[in-house]
Amino acid sequence: KKSIVAIVGRPNVGKSSLFNRIIREQKSIVEDIPGVTRDRIYGNAEWLTREFLVIDTGGITLADEIFAKEIKIQAEIAMQEADVIIFALNFKEGLTDQDHMIAKILYKTKKPIILVVNKYDKKGSDNDMFEFMSLGFGNPIMASSTHGIGIGDLLDAVVYQL
Ligand code: GDP
Ligand code: MG
Repeated sequence: KKSIVAIVGRPNVGKSSLFNRIIREQKSIVEDIPGVTRDRIYGNAEWLTREFLVIDTGGITLADEIFAKEIKIQAEIAMQEADVIIFALNFKEGLTDQDHMIAKILYKTKKPIILVVNKYDKKGSDNDMFEFMSLGFGNPIMASSTHGIGIGDLLDAVVYQL
């Protein structure tokens, strides 16, 4: 059975863009409008000869549910289904209450969590990581899915955990 890697994170951090980078095709729908039905959330990926399945949990939507509840359920599905969890954050916006809410849920799992700080379009200093390290999941991987930065490092970290 193939290993499963789930991407979790609040809306607009770039989960679908990361997913597309990882599976290297435009399968997951990238959009700005929250709440639009997204159904193509599974993709096959390969890195360093390891094959695995990626899930974009942002595509798991619930009808008539408040956003907070939806994000919680996405994180819980990831904790149940995945072997490795990618927790995506947004460098441009920094940490938000919703990020902390997701972190609180993820603290309950023993599964490996890889932090990725997306929208890091321009390389700065190592200090840029500090804010995100405060979550307690270790050092984040700084990435930009639109510029293709850090994706190799992210995949290295994922495969190392499989
Ligand atoms: P999701 O809601 O977490 O799935 O986020 P999306 O992948 O749909 O991306 C939300 C928006 O952020 C889109 O307009 C993307 O083009 C944009 N975006 C995604 N990744 C990056 C990035 O690395 N840098 C910048 N500047 N924008 C990004
Ligand atoms: Mg998405």
